[in-house]
Amino acid sequence: MGKKRVLVGYGIDVDAVANWINTTDGKPQTPTNVSRGVYGATVGIDRLLKLYDKYNIKATFFTPAHSIESFPKQLAKVRDAGHEIGLHGYTHEHLSTLSAQQQHDVLEKSIDVLTKFCGKKPLGFTAPAWDTTKELIPQLEEFGIMYDHSFMHHDVQPYYTPDSSHTWVETNVAKPADFWMSPMTKIHPSKVVQIPSNWHLDDWPPLQPIPGRPGAQGFVSTHEVERLWMEQFDFAYREYDTFIFPMSIHPQVSGKPQVILMHERIIEYINKHEGVEWMPLGDMAKEFIEGRIPGVEIEGGVGP
Ligand SMILES: [Zn+2]
Repeated sequence: MGKKRVLVGYGIDVDAVANWINTTDGKPQTPTNVSRGVYGATVGIDRLLKLYDKYNIKATFFTPAHSIESFPKQLAKVRDAGHEIGLHGYTHEHLSTLSAQQQHDVLEKSIDVLTKFCGKKPLGFTAPAWDTTKELIPQLEEFGIMYDHSFMHHDVQPYYTPDSSHTWVETNVAKPADFWMSPMTKIHPSKVVQIPSNWHLDDWPPLQPIPGRPGAQGFVSTHEVERLWMEQFDFAYREYDTFIFPMSIHPQVSGKPQVILMHERIIEYINKHEGVEWMPLGDMAKEFIEGRIPGVEIEGGVGP
């Protein structure tokens, strides 16, 4: 076992009201669900800022531009405390519901809002609901965004995100089988660093109830969630000398009393380990680009 270097951090999705009003077809949202978003932007942010201050942690707040424009005072607290602010759409749009032009327009507008608010261009992006498209990586390259946090080719290593040139054929049983029986074409890396996302390191599905949606059951014990997350940390710590451990949370979920207590236990547990450094996700991406953490290369597919 070599000397450990472990880059740990929080990506906080400040979905606030934006996520709830992203109904895609103009269907009205209920005032109660909107109030859950307001809670996140106010109570949730305040509690998380206090938590990070207590443990001297700088994190990345991926913030829909709608949240910045609707809660400027709250996001100013985040910015002024020295946390990174990253891109997360305008109204938390799920990219696969948008045309290429709409994706481009949302990215352009949200980069503009964040740049004006922070006085510098954002470094990173995370796709709302980790719902991505073939257009995403080329568009991030076009706008010069350094890293993304939406893909799952690995879980605890940074890498250059595959560009969108590799193709695959989905099955379509309405057609003869010959139609789909072919391998994926070769993966080529883009310039965009990937700090991978991971549904099993996300507070929303286990802890945020949405009635009628099985993926958001919401009533899992925080002690179970803590165990699930720390088992992943323990495995990575045993298997790798260097790795990254980005956790994804939401102020409207993690701002709740029982979840704040879980984060205190998680932070204190992680801090017992040799070689741990807390940092925003943008700093992890820089560590990788500048060669201070090796990361991995993603391979797969065949052909040129
Ligand atoms: Zn989100």
